[in-house]
Amino acid sequence: ALAGEAPRRDRLIEYLHRLQDAHGALHAGHLAALAEALQLARAEVFEVATFYHHFDFVAEGGAAPPALTVRVCDSLGCAMAGGAELAAALATRLGAGVRVQRVPCVGRCDSAPVAVVGQRPVLHADVDTVAAVVASGEREEALPAAIRFDAYRAAGGYALWEAVRSGARDPASIVAALDEAGLRGLGGAGFPAARKWRTVAAQPAPRHMAVNIDEGEPGTFKDRHYLSTDPHRFIEGMLIAARVVGIAAIWIYIRDEYPALRRLLAEELERVRAEWPELPPIELRRGAGAYVCGEESAMIESIEGKRGMPRLRPPYVAEVGLFGRPTLEHNLETLWWVRDIVDMSAERGADGFASHGRHGRKGLRSFSVSGRVARPGVVVTDAGITLRELIDEHCGGMLPGHELYGYFPGGASGGILPARLADVPLDFDTLAPYGCFIGSAAIVVFSQHDQARLLAENAMAFFAHESCGQCTPCRVGTAKAAQLMQAPAWDAGLLTELGRTMMDASICGLGQAAPNPMQSVLRFFPHEVGGARAGAAGGASPTAPDACAAPPAPHADDTRSA
Ligand code: SF4
Repeated sequence: ALAGEAPRRDRLIEYLHRLQDAHGALHAGHLAALAEALQLARAEVFEVATFYHHFDFVAEGGAAPPALTVRVCDSLGCAMAGGAELAAALATRLGAGVRVQRVPCVGRCDSAPVAVVGQRPVLHADVDTVAAVVASGEREEALPAAIRFDAYRAAGGYALWEAVRSGARDPASIVAALDEAGLRGLGGAGFPAARKWRTVAAQPAPRHMAVNIDEGEPGTFKDRHYLSTDPHRFIEGMLIAARVVGIAAIWIYIRDEYPALRRLLAEELERVRAEWPELPPIELRRGAGAYVCGEESAMIESIEGKRGMPRLRPPYVAEVGLFGRPTLEHNLETLWWVRDIVDMSAERGADGFASHGRHGRKGLRSFSVSGRVARPGVVVTDAGITLRELIDEHCGGMLPGHELYGYFPGGASGGILPARLADVPLDFDTLAPYGCFIGSAAIVVFSQHDQARLLAENAMAFFAHESCGQCTPCRVGTAKAAQLMQAPAWDAGLLTELGRTMMDASICGLGQAAPNPMQSVLRFFPHEVGGARAGAAGGASPTAPDACAAPPAPHADDTRSA
């Protein structure tokens, strides 16, 4: 597992990955050996190995899992496209020699339903296509046709980085450009990027940087899109940020569901290192299937080789972050925009960026659009565009036979809006009056053939599965709410009180936002929860002739609930 390197406690998750990749699962002996090598208590290694969904720990005397696992997504977009039914049919077709698991979002919502055979995604999957991939022996995804280093360079790429590196561009002018453009954190929190850079730069050295490519919010796939098409634009933004803020070392945390992108990034970072050997150390870290690690302090814990449990704040990570040092943390997309904003040309540059926007909003946004639209995908367009404009102008309208009934404006955690609110500008802060937020701009559109309540149940089951378990309002609240939401008629008073407690008393955004879809249903779709409940796996409702999106079953890999 150590591959000849000096043991490092912070690389524990990497070592666990190596062991599992080599042996198919983690056994007690593996954990004991790792504990000894790292001089840790066995309990510390055990708690990490059993925290992350992608690790299979086999207790002494337990049966190892089959050699092949097929993961079938059952989050919002895939659930609407029949993910649960696909998983059930695959379990029958593939037999006992293959493990079929229903898993949360795999970041390919524009191609729903999605199954992953080993590490090979099957898009728009059906039983036959998945069975064919299983039979073919293909287990890996090919590298995407991204713009590689030489092509990027030949097209003028890294010119801005060179200008910053040589001192031709003054760091203060770069931060001012971010301010002028109004660039905000695009992972979901929306914190002004310039303010974050200034805050971290004012802290004592050494300062660290952590890049978040853990996009696990159901409905979100923009980071995958950018990385698989133009990775150097992101890397250039990252290098500019590191130079301006005075960063000593960089960690990039990428979700385990993107193995091809991890390989691509590793190759391209090597190429960049060969060009500029003096760069600070850059370490690529592989997640292990924990949505909560998208939360900035949980990601930092995970990079340090621990369970991904969010920290109490203050202190904020900008002051005390990775390994106790001030840390600049950014989502991939935020850094992706830096190059064009720092560019001084008219159409690019801060003015160019800020010249976009509608309905009083400023800038450009990347929307991940999925669900019942004709052309799902990543749409880059004006901040403040409305859902109706987005669907009509960029997504080819609704799917034939589907009429807009409602939508998630910000993934599973951002709440749900009804069709009558399809003309609200989509941006940070515009959705607060409706109890919603845009987050990472993951738009999941549903129609009269769906039920908001089943989608909200799906979201709550997801949060219950992904809660890190650290605080009671979230750990118990999500599970309790998921259970209460199964009743034909919801107890509105009890659910509202429960939701308020979770919002007020949870430590991090997961528990605070988990009640949003449930509360949206109570507010905007009360007719669905007043009595009769349609069948969980596609039964009819008065408004939903072939309703879908059943809540996910308890996930088979959840070893933390015990
Ligand atoms: Fe963990 Fe949930 Fe508490 Fe966040 S709110 S720290 S995910 S238990």
